[in-house]
Amino acid sequence: MLLDLNEQPVEAATQSEIVAEKILVALCQVAVLESGEYHGSASIGAILFSDDSVSTDELLKRADIAMYQAKKSGRNTIRFFDPKMQESINARVSLGTVLRHALVRQQFSLYYQIQIDGASRPVGAEALIRWIHPVRAVVLPGEFIPLAEETGQILPIGQWVLESACAQLEVWHHDVLTRDLVLSVNVSARQFHQADFAAQVEMYCQSYSVDPSRLKLEITEGMLLENIEDVIVTMDRLKRIGIGFSLDDFGTGYSSLQYLKLLPLAQLKIDRSFVRDISTDPNDRAIVITIIAMAKSLSLDIIAEGVETEEERIFLADHGCMKYQGYLFSKPLPIAQFEELLKRC
Ligand code: C2E
Ligand code: MG
Ligand code: MG
Repeated sequence: MLLDLNEQPVEAATQSEIVAEKILVALCQVAVLESGEYHGSASIGAILFSDDSVSTDELLKRADIAMYQAKKSGRNTIRFFDPKMQESINARVSLGTVLRHALVRQQFSLYYQIQIDGASRPVGAEALIRWIHPVRAVVLPGEFIPLAEETGQILPIGQWVLESACAQLEVWHHDVLTRDLVLSVNVSARQFHQADFAAQVEMYCQSYSVDPSRLKLEITEGMLLENIEDVIVTMDRLKRIGIGFSLDDFGTGYSSLQYLKLLPLAQLKIDRSFVRDISTDPNDRAIVITIIAMAKSLSLDIIAEGVETEEERIFLADHGCMKYQGYLFSKPLPIAQFEELLKRC
């Protein structure tokens, strides 16, 4: 605790920052031990207070929040607590509370986004979750999936997604218009790393009499960072019964070619960020061409996501990518509208 700081908050903050900088420099000194040199760094959270209206516990909690903010900003730095930070944390906590009820209240829904081949025929769809919030209307997954991952709620939510997708495949099986479609389902890392994940998927396939080759699981590169051996075991087991895997957002994460060789993948999905800038950025064009060539040489299927213009589709087709998903064809739709769309294809 630093006492006798200036009465002006800005001045007091500057004084505290000078002390914090000195602490950071001191902690950054290299420690020479017998086994080698060691480098350390620190993240400092600070809070200014001038009276005792806030309890010690609360002060420490706020300093802690600021410290996490310092870590988030790249570590080895200092951050001051600011009420906006607290507001955003409060908002997340309350979102987390309502999210907990969303499943039992049946507020989730799957939307379907069509996937098209080179002859403009539908080949499948990606199932994308939506939270139909009574007040906030349709909440996109970007707003609640990361929170659900943090709190562990992604496990029951992910099971609901898998089960709903399998139930939909069972319905599709009885209609000539839909029986050949492949349905892609996003799986989050935490969900995939559960010991009984493969068993869950097998169980849903069985209970809804799903032909496993109609189900595709989308995984991301982030999932491959830990326990890669276990990931491969799970993938192999599911691949053996006919389930395909697509590597989503390809090129945005830590893509190791070593992984690509090891994983029993069926498909690479070119990330939207590369497709978006095809017409303006020569680097993105080069990346897209390279990804397509790489997929070809590894005998992997390839699909581009986020295709919004005819120009993008032509560029992709010219370079050998013959499957597309994006607003050019359709946005993700509720099931009834999706089936209407199929009838018009
Ligand atoms: P994703 O799997 O990469 O899904 C593609 C996202 O791009 C979707 O956003 C889709 O609506 C959007 N998109 C598709 N075509 C276009 C286009 O042409 N232009 C633009 N601007 N956007 C396009 P959405 O539905 O908001 O989903 C975001 C992410 O949330 C997904 O990214 C996926 O990572 C995650 N997600 C969605 N559903 C689930 C789920 O059931 N489980 C899990 N674990 N994650 C999910
Ligand atoms: Mg996806
Ligand atoms: Mg994606």
